Amino acid sequence: MSVHLEKIADRVLETDVLVIGGGLSGCVAATKAAKLGAEVIVLEKAWLERSGGAAAGMDHCATVPNENISYKDIVKGMTGDGQYPPIKNKKGLFNSNVYFSTWKDTRKHIEEMESWGVDLTWDDGEYYWIPSPRTGGRTTIRFHGQFLKPQLAAAVRKSGCTVLDRTMGVDLLTKNGRVVGAVALNTRNGDFTVIRAKAVVVSTGMVQRIFNPEDSAPWTNKFIYHWNPTGAGDAHAMAYRAGAKLANMEFSSWFSRLIDDKTIMFGSLTDGDGEPTRIVNARGEVVSETAFMSLETYVEQEGLTPMYFDVPHTSESHQRKREISAADERMATLKYIQERGFDPRKHRWELHGTKSLALTKNMAGIVTDETFKTTVDGLYAVGDAVQAGGTVLGSCNSGIIFAESVVKQLPRIKHSEIDEAQVKLWKDRLDMHRHVEDGAEPLEFESKIRAISERYAVLYRSEGKLKEALSRLGDLRRDWMHRLAGDTPHKLMRVVDCYNLAHLAEVHYRSALNREDTRASFWRKDFPEMNPEWDNKVNFAYMKDGKCVIEKGSFPEVDPRWLEEGA
Ligand SMILES: Cc1cc2nc3c(=O)[nH]c(=O)nc-3n(C[C@H](O)[C@H](O)[C@H](O)COP(=O)(O)OP(=O)(O)OC[C@H]3O[C@@H](n4cnc5c(N)ncnc54)[C@H](O)[C@@H]3O)c2cc1C
Repeated sequence: MSVHLEKIADRVLETDVLVIGGGLSGCVAATKAAKLGAEVIVLEKAWLERSGGAAAGMDHCATVPNENISYKDIVKGMTGDGQYPPIKNKKGLFNSNVYFSTWKDTRKHIEEMESWGVDLTWDDGEYYWIPSPRTGGRTTIRFHGQFLKPQLAAAVRKSGCTVLDRTMGVDLLTKNGRVVGAVALNTRNGDFTVIRAKAVVVSTGMVQRIFNPEDSAPWTNKFIYHWNPTGAGDAHAMAYRAGAKLANMEFSSWFSRLIDDKTIMFGSLTDGDGEPTRIVNARGEVVSETAFMSLETYVEQEGLTPMYFDVPHTSESHQRKREISAADERMATLKYIQERGFDPRKHRWELHGTKSLALTKNMAGIVTDETFKTTVDGLYAVGDAVQAGGTVLGSCNSGIIFAESVVKQLPRIKHSEIDEAQVKLWKDRLDMHRHVEDGAEPLEFESKIRAISERYAVLYRSEGKLKEALSRLGDLRRDWMHRLAGDTPHKLMRVVDCYNLAHLAEVHYRSALNREDTRASFWRKDFPEMNPEWDNKVNFAYMKDGKCVIEKGSFPEVDPRWLEEGA
């Protein structure tokens, strides 16, 4: 290892596999790689035991292949047209091969994770299957997801991985077009670390913070988000800067959440668990038999909001199940409603539609092949960060598939020299922010990005608005980026968040500008119809020579081997 690096960084480490992001997918990737004999370092921006989308809990694993539904049918459901208008016409927007690969061995992967101490069974030790009105079959397992994250964190620690908690992956290091490591920042003591790795996998979840949180004023610049609040899209931004392709970054999504806890929507129980549940509008008229995200947009357009999740009519046993579900997904919600005298057995839950709170999981993300390798050598991506990724099992599956593939290649990979100039660039940049006098709060900068996105890039987009968004973002970066104050390690982390968010906001606006089309969950007011020129087309975004490149392309056709009998 070069002596100079030791002088630049507080610490220099070396490993086979570097995992950036210790959420569900990162934990599974790390554990599996370590069990297969690799040396693994995990960087976690928060704390492994309770971090990421699964930090507080969750209540179901959807789309589990079983005798009622094959993995091929599951993939068909995911990549075909949806039942509801907002997700119609998504054909061609996914790499179906990634989906097939992800879902094929789900049952085997569940068994494997169970051998590590993960428990997906119910109180009687059996799987608790519930029917899904959307797929028609018993494809969903309810489980006590409040324990999942600590169980996986324990598996990581037991497998011998080195875990660096409170340590943020700042950027990737490249050599001759290959990713060869990363630089990291300890968010408590400010230490700057260089890690040399034979393979790097990014697993930092979704991009959401370029939009306002579900709960806005007076918390505009805070983090009351449904998805993982540390999610500044770090994986996407790092991969983008390293030249890896992102896809469909113009697609953003919106959901309905319970107004009492903007973060929650009980996944399995809003689908009824065998009993009809329904959504009613302000007049009490039933608008849907199943709770569906984005329905509120339609109800609102007709002036019939508020909208309610109507459950008092359901049976005692269903009410009880809902309470357990809430406890499994987010215990705090129950406490909060109790304190304000709300009785979910008597009262209707008011639903709140949130607009564009995140770049759409599954649709927007890092492009990978079936082994979760990105378009840049040495770099992999798993979990929600991946185009065609997401959910508990999708994330866990991708972690295992990645590890199995990469560990086989390790004997052929040699460590590369680290380019000191790249390390120094970040070291100097962070030092500059540490010492900015009378600088700007990173949160103010971030709020400004959110404000631009909300005003010019939410929902009904048009050329004029998107160009204005780009112009304002440009001004913001030029005038304020260098003045962001990172005088504590925590604020320095927020400064790096701002670099990432600014890059991703730009990618989002430019991708939206390029797509002269309306389909799936993407609207252009000035191109209100589906444009045949965009049939089966995808927007790819990557960075080249410091500039954002947007290219229209397509994903590969489905490999016929996935469709063969017995595949
Ligand atoms: C409230 C809620 C309920 C949900 N319920 C369900 C459910 O019931 N069923 C289901 O299938 N799915 C559910 N999901 C979705 C599921 O949680 C996600 O699909 C899954 O957690 C994604 O895993 P991931 O590893 O990709 O990302 P995450 O779990 O979000 O993990 C990302 C990790 O990366 C870390 N990180 C971020 N940036 C950096 C960086 N720069 N350096 C180092 N670390 C970094 C974060 O701190 C975090 O730990 C739910 C999500 C939420 C938020």
